[in-house]
Amino acid sequence: MNSDDSYNGKSKFIFITGGVLSGLGKGVAAASIGALLSRFRVIPVKCDGYLNVDPGTMNPIEHGEVFVLDDGGEVDMDFGHYERFLNINGKSEWSLTMGKVFSTLIERERQGVYAGTTIQFIPHVADVIKSHLFKIASKESADVMLVEIGGTVGDLENEFYIEAVRQLSNIVGPDNCLFVHLTYVPIPKGVREQKSKPTQMSVRDLNERGIYPDIIIGRCCEPLTSKIKEKIALFGNIPSKNVISGLDMNSVYEIPLSFQQEGILEIILKKLKIASATSPKMDEWKRLVEVCQRNYENPRKTLNVALCGKHTQLEDSYASVREAIAHAAAHLNVACNLKMLDVESPDIKEQLASLDAVIVPGGFGIRGMEEKISIIQAVREANIPFLGICYGMQLAVVEYARHKCGLPLAGTAEVQSAGIEVKEPVIAFLPNLEYVKVLGGTLRKGGHDVFLKKGSFAEKIYDGVSVIRERFRHRYEVNPMYISKLEENGLVFSGHSAKEDNIMQIMEIPDHPFFVATQFHPELTSTLLKPSPLFYHLLKAAEQRFDLRVENRE
Ligand code: GLN
Repeated sequence: MNSDDSYNGKSKFIFITGGVLSGLGKGVAAASIGALLSRFRVIPVKCDGYLNVDPGTMNPIEHGEVFVLDDGGEVDMDFGHYERFLNINGKSEWSLTMGKVFSTLIERERQGVYAGTTIQFIPHVADVIKSHLFKIASKESADVMLVEIGGTVGDLENEFYIEAVRQLSNIVGPDNCLFVHLTYVPIPKGVREQKSKPTQMSVRDLNERGIYPDIIIGRCCEPLTSKIKEKIALFGNIPSKNVISGLDMNSVYEIPLSFQQEGILEIILKKLKIASATSPKMDEWKRLVEVCQRNYENPRKTLNVALCGKHTQLEDSYASVREAIAHAAAHLNVACNLKMLDVESPDIKEQLASLDAVIVPGGFGIRGMEEKISIIQAVREANIPFLGICYGMQLAVVEYARHKCGLPLAGTAEVQSAGIEVKEPVIAFLPNLEYVKVLGGTLRKGGHDVFLKKGSFAEKIYDGVSVIRERFRHRYEVNPMYISKLEENGLVFSGHSAKEDNIMQIMEIPDHPFFVATQFHPELTSTLLKPSPLFYHLLKAAEQRFDLRVENRE
């Protein structure tokens, strides 16, 4: 290893592992710890065991949403939590997958870097992982590296990460690293008692691999009792105050506050010998969490918001959209009843009358496409507030072309790959991508500037600024040949890309309570403290519709 991939002698490492079962919220737990350390330069890293180079080629049903970073990286949805909790822009290289680890290793082997040695899982795979972590720590001048190891201890595919961080902990020494283990504390029906055995077993699994957690978080539907904390502490060989309740919460934003109450920050600072007098500034965060709690228990107004998509059976497929709605709702002091509607379910249109807002999120392919178009038409005609995102915008343009511009054969070129002829391709292939043949990494991705049209609604909701930066992930765009026809018939394109490629990025329909659609994904940059203006104004319009519905009922 050369100097930039060895330990810089300064950065502290916090490793987060998981036990017992997946889906306990390791990403949120890691992000919450990061939020409490926000006075420091915290760099989150996620280590995933799968062999895809990135999750961009995975179906969201498999793995939840693909999160897109400003630098164009397609990463695990946990980066959504990191960005929302840590208020940072993540980078592609902070996401490590076994696909990346092995690509690096094989590339180096072909380049002759290993000069005749036998390449082995240990030390070589573990070395790639360690040097990657050290390199990021140095490059980013990290005070704290927050490293989450995906999966559950004992999973074969994560063994090399566990072994690598064990070795790393030995290099940096006990004052510079800390292990947090998240487990599950069940209360079996009938027994009505918190049980520690699964935690004991997963801690033992970790111990067998040479790792002794400093903090154990027990996810449970009730606060952990002092009895169970003591029991876990005894088997985990830690003081019982280092056993933290990972209580089920109505909102993930409550979790940093709850960890803080349990004293996790003091334990971390003490173990890592970080001197700190001031606690993190969480006042506004706390105020918004309290608004959410109040609206959860006793809502001022409950807006019915529908998300009409194809992957509605797995809520994680649209994780950031759900969060963006929660952010806007907190600022408007309302509750949202988010209905995940499968566009292919037969009775979807009947439900529209009871809705206050409809979102058609991003998507791909022909399945469900016609259904989405007909929902968009119904929503436009019924004056229901509407936000279309990416594919949702493209299909809103198709719908408008068909029903308002006299182009009944309008469609998107995307379905041509399924062998369907599109006579009027109002949505066409991005010209500079035409040469692309392989799937992984072929989209127009990442952060781009969007120039807002003077006097447009979009400009108004973005507080009058003329350029915004938003994130994209698409292959198709509004076909330039149809722009004037669409505009002549009342559609307004209120956001454009830079002059050179002039891609349409926002569309709006002026005489509608709220009909805005964007080629970008506003949900990816929304945070609790700074909600996306698009979601905020969608819900504002939804609130007006709610008031009308209530008035009409009275
Ligand atoms: N399928 C569309 C495209 O490739 C939209 C993609 C999306 O919604 N993320 O352009």
